[in-house]
Amino acid sequence: METLIDRLRAVRAFRNLPTSALTKIAQIASPPTTYQAGELISDGQGEQALLLVVAGKAKVSLLTADGNENILYLLKGGDVDGQAALFVRHPRLARLIKAVYPTTVIRLRHDAFQRFFKGQNKFPHFKSRKYAQSYNSKCVNHNIKVIDNHHIKLPKLGVVYFRSGRLPQGKIKNVTVRLTVANQYYITVLTECENQTLAKTGKRVGGDLGLKSLLNLSDGYKELIHHFEDKYRKKLHYWEKLRSRRYLLAKQAIAWDYHNKVLAPRQLDDFKNYQKARVMVAKYRQKIANQRLDQLQKFTTKLVKQYDIIVLEKLNIKGMLKNHKLARAITNASWSKLVSILQYKCDWYGKKLIQVNPAYTSQICINCGKNNHRLGLDKSEWLDVREWDCPNCGTRLDRDINAAQVILKKGLATQ
Ligand SMILES: [Zn+2]
Repeated sequence: METLIDRLRAVRAFRNLPTSALTKIAQIASPPTTYQAGELISDGQGEQALLLVVAGKAKVSLLTADGNENILYLLKGGDVDGQAALFVRHPRLARLIKAVYPTTVIRLRHDAFQRFFKGQNKFPHFKSRKYAQSYNSKCVNHNIKVIDNHHIKLPKLGVVYFRSGRLPQGKIKNVTVRLTVANQYYITVLTECENQTLAKTGKRVGGDLGLKSLLNLSDGYKELIHHFEDKYRKKLHYWEKLRSRRYLLAKQAIAWDYHNKVLAPRQLDDFKNYQKARVMVAKYRQKIANQRLDQLQKFTTKLVKQYDIIVLEKLNIKGMLKNHKLARAITNASWSKLVSILQYKCDWYGKKLIQVNPAYTSQICINCGKNNHRLGLDKSEWLDVREWDCPNCGTRLDRDINAAQVILKKGLATQ
């Protein structure tokens, strides 16, 4: 079994610490209690430590019984990617670091640290200011309330205008406000509600994940893959070109400032045209991603409403990682997404998702059950065959629908 010390050692910031130091850290951490950001915590032996996230240089030190400070390790900025979580065992040093990095300490997400010590999570990442920014608020004393179709009351912000197709239902637990790279604000409201199971239809279906169509169903329906990116390809390319050119120019200008030892060297934020191009690229990418997700959401909802049992092939994740072709990778991404969305929707609505081994599913005849071994063709030739006649029983078979039917049969056999 993996111990806390093993997990601590796997963290980059702690990699070079001696085992004795890791043991000390593990001692303070367990049993896990609620830590406030930058709070002094006791390890139960009279020694105190401060839990901190710091950027740049920092020391890990131990306070011995006679009050001497033992520096265990000096972190350099480069060592830790500007991020590290430390137990600083000297209150004075801790105060010093707190004074030097005040904002950093505030941004410590202590919930994440608790989950790490409990073994639920990986080591928390330092929250980057570079990409999407978000904060999370818990709902206490009705400080979060949906007022009407377009207004929501949020903690600290007050009443805020919003647009949404649906209103949150049930008891509000917390809210996350998020500013995306495309400079758009999103509010995510987490609510608790009774599980509404959908009415049983008595129908079952098998599905074959494809390249031309997203999913072929055993009853003959084919959900096509929409190439949403086609619509925006030209515009996206235009802004991507501008962005990279402006990025290079900005970098050169910054280097020039540093070279000339300018008092306040310009930062990337100061280059308005670069920022504009960056936002435009993000906007178009967001648009494409939104449309793709929308299709998946609508399609999966339709599936769980229509069928009680859905059988799919188990995705070959290892094989996927080996494949370097981009088109395939995009399809694979939406396959995994499709399966994961379908999984949680089935759980929510009381339906069942079965995943089966996809071996030979396209080569077995649904009518007589014979494995035809690609009809003696090689792999690429076989992929081009859309319809074939079973040599054993003579049935004319549609490749995709036959595969979906075989998958359904395999899935039902496991019941
Ligand atoms: Zn046959």
